[in-house]
Amino acid sequence: MRLRNIPGATEEIAQSKYCIHDAQQYKGNWSNFWGNNHPIHIEVGMGKGQFIMDLAKLHPDINYIGIEKYSSVLLRGLQKMEIEPLDNVRFIRMDAEYICDFFGENDVDRIYLNFSDPWPKDRHARRRLTSHQFLERYDTFLISDGHIEFKTDNDGLFQFSLDEANESETWHIDAHTWDLHNDQAMCEGNVMTEYEKKFSEMGHPIHKMILSRS
Ligand code: SAM
Repeated sequence: MRLRNIPGATEEIAQSKYCIHDAQQYKGNWSNFWGNNHPIHIEVGMGKGQFIMDLAKLHPDINYIGIEKYSSVLLRGLQKMEIEPLDNVRFIRMDAEYICDFFGENDVDRIYLNFSDPWPKDRHARRRLTSHQFLERYDTFLISDGHIEFKTDNDGLFQFSLDEANESETWHIDAHTWDLHNDQAMCEGNVMTEYEKKFSEMGHPIHKMILSRS
């Protein structure tokens, strides 16, 4: 998702109390930021933040961090927080390529990847958030029994992600489905993302996989 550049978005983010501006200083020490030891779940590529905010309302004892590359998109999340502030949600504007600058060993308990950009050209495969390059990054900061949950409607990206996980010596596919909304077990408690609502209304089956360490 890349909304038209919104004038002032960067400045608004720089001043927002809902964004973590100096996030690198909390690497390895996130309880100092939150003031508690609650588990931390992150969504990489959160878009406008609806999913992570819905989860945060359901689970007040979990701290959520939404990561988004584009200011114009992140701004929409900030606007939602202004209307309905949540103490257990904060945002970081960054390119996830640099995620290891922000999170150290055991900092994160779960990673959500939802409707990540497919980057269809082979030469851009390393930019896909489920590429082996990204899986190696997540391995450095996810707790040992932590999970990655990935949803998409994109067949090519989903098959690529299954292949990357299968070829990995670190990651194991706990479960996967090509049709989440018709898979009773995997769909239980499912919280829909903005893209999930849009694409399922268009009749696209939603795919999901859950990874853990092998
Ligand atoms: N997760 C939301 C959902 O399911 O409704 C948004 C999905 S949208 C298609 C993908 C989002 O990921 C976009 O907002 C895009 O800017 C963001 N994104 C893509 N690559 C990223 C990266 N390397 N770092 C941070 N955000 C990224």
